Amino acid sequence: MSNKPEKNDCWQDNRIKKAEVEKYMAQGHDFVHDEDILQKLSACKKPDSHRIKDILAKSLAIQSLSLDETAALLNVTDHRLLEDMKEAALKIKKKVYDNRIVTFAPLYMGNYCVNNCLYCGFKTDNKQAKRKVLFQEEIIKEVEVLAGEIGHKRLIVVYGEHPQNDVDYILSSIKTIYGVKVKVKNAIGNIRRINVNAPALSIKDLKWLHEAGIGTYQVFQETYHHQTYAAMHPKETIKNNYQWRLYCMHRAFEAGIDDVGIGALFGLYDWKFEVMGLVAHALELEKTFGIGPHTVSFPRLESALNIPKELLSRYKVSDDDFMKVILAVRLSIPYTGMIITARETASIRRAAISLGITQTDASTKIGIGGYSRGKEAQDEQSQQFILGDMRSLDEIVCEFAQMGYITSFCTAGYRCGRTGKCIMDLLRSGAEGKFCKLNAILTFKEWLDDFASENTKKQSKALLEREIIEVRKKAPDIFPKFQEYYKRIKAGERDLYI
Ligand code: SAM
Ligand code: SF4
Repeated sequence: MSNKPEKNDCWQDNRIKKAEVEKYMAQGHDFVHDEDILQKLSACKKPDSHRIKDILAKSLAIQSLSLDETAALLNVTDHRLLEDMKEAALKIKKKVYDNRIVTFAPLYMGNYCVNNCLYCGFKTDNKQAKRKVLFQEEIIKEVEVLAGEIGHKRLIVVYGEHPQNDVDYILSSIKTIYGVKVKVKNAIGNIRRINVNAPALSIKDLKWLHEAGIGTYQVFQETYHHQTYAAMHPKETIKNNYQWRLYCMHRAFEAGIDDVGIGALFGLYDWKFEVMGLVAHALELEKTFGIGPHTVSFPRLESALNIPKELLSRYKVSDDDFMKVILAVRLSIPYTGMIITARETASIRRAAISLGITQTDASTKIGIGGYSRGKEAQDEQSQQFILGDMRSLDEIVCEFAQMGYITSFCTAGYRCGRTGKCIMDLLRSGAEGKFCKLNAILTFKEWLDDFASENTKKQSKALLEREIIEVRKKAPDIFPKFQEYYKRIKAGERDLYI
């Protein structure tokens, strides 16, 4: 099939439902006010230390910051204040997420796309791109490797925008993935949470996704700067419509999906502006639905097939500034989960985790069919961009254990109804840790027994013992139940959660 839908095909024309954008807008305007953001950023070029300390106190109380407060943090250059910010970020992460890191793998379902985003290897004008969409049998093969060999429990499934990847395909692929059960030693390996990175969809389609049992619905705005957005997404493409994309999380909430993931592609425009856009988005969701984003992502622009060279350099975000991005988001939206992916190198990921990152991918392959087809699916013509960190899940779990982080494979939250407002309140109060810590240990033990190398098991032993002692001390009421579950997992039972 050609990458372009037929000329008389009205598929493309019917994608955007005007009424599902206009109903959210105030007097025809969206909530991202470019001039206002720029004005706020230039109004506090040299924030004083008292102001910064007051702002940090608010973050430490797990309250979202206003745009003025975020602007002040973004303008900090004083070395000591930056150190104070790092210290506060770490405290917040400890308070809200403790020492847990969640891992997942991306699964690219196809690279057909009708859009022409200047920065993306999948853009429709990329004639050299080898196009493919996974058939159901191929999806099964991918999941057999992911769940049966690597041991992943969570996926983010990624779709282009094309009739071949329409909502029917999305739904059948989700059903297929949840249906794969692989025999692992004496247990069953399976995917227990599917997060979806897909185009902006209508309320009707999002209701279908909700019914299919997805975890987080993730869509990145790419750039919040209107003019840059228009320049990156050519006219006549669906993605050219800024507001259709901006309000897709509003539609998701209306459709019943209350775990949503926002993000910006850093490197398209000024990084400070993008952070302000992310915070404006979080505040708007909090104001309208009482719930902010479940996760925030920070992809940095990577080289890809036929992307204009000047695009890579114009707003390039240095490593130092990238750390400030992470810091500012951790402090501005203190309750949110924060994702860094294998686009980044191992050393950047290591540093970012100490500043507030809570989720990361591992054993990542982004070629279509890359997990089961191996190298043949991993050339530049098949991938969206080039990866920076190819380490396996085992290597990453081992490194985390050495850093004192417990890798959580927990997927209990959404299966117990701890989503949306419920999870948000638990996170803000620091109480979420109680469930998550216990389930993190249980799933970590499960994974170590089923998938870890001898070295990773050895490196994780002391950490596991410390964690159990901590649970006994901090949650004595629930400890007997936890201990019973732990013993049952040791004896081979799987997927037990509190
Ligand atoms: N087609 C859907 C969309 O655009 O929302 C989802 C899939 S797209 C493959 C997922 C994300 O990849 C995009 O939202 C964008 O932020 C990111 N991306 C695209 N090109 C990239 C590049 N060259 N480097 C890093 N990330 C990129
Ligand atoms: Fe298509 Fe998404 Fe790539 Fe744009 S970023 S070309 S919409 S896959």
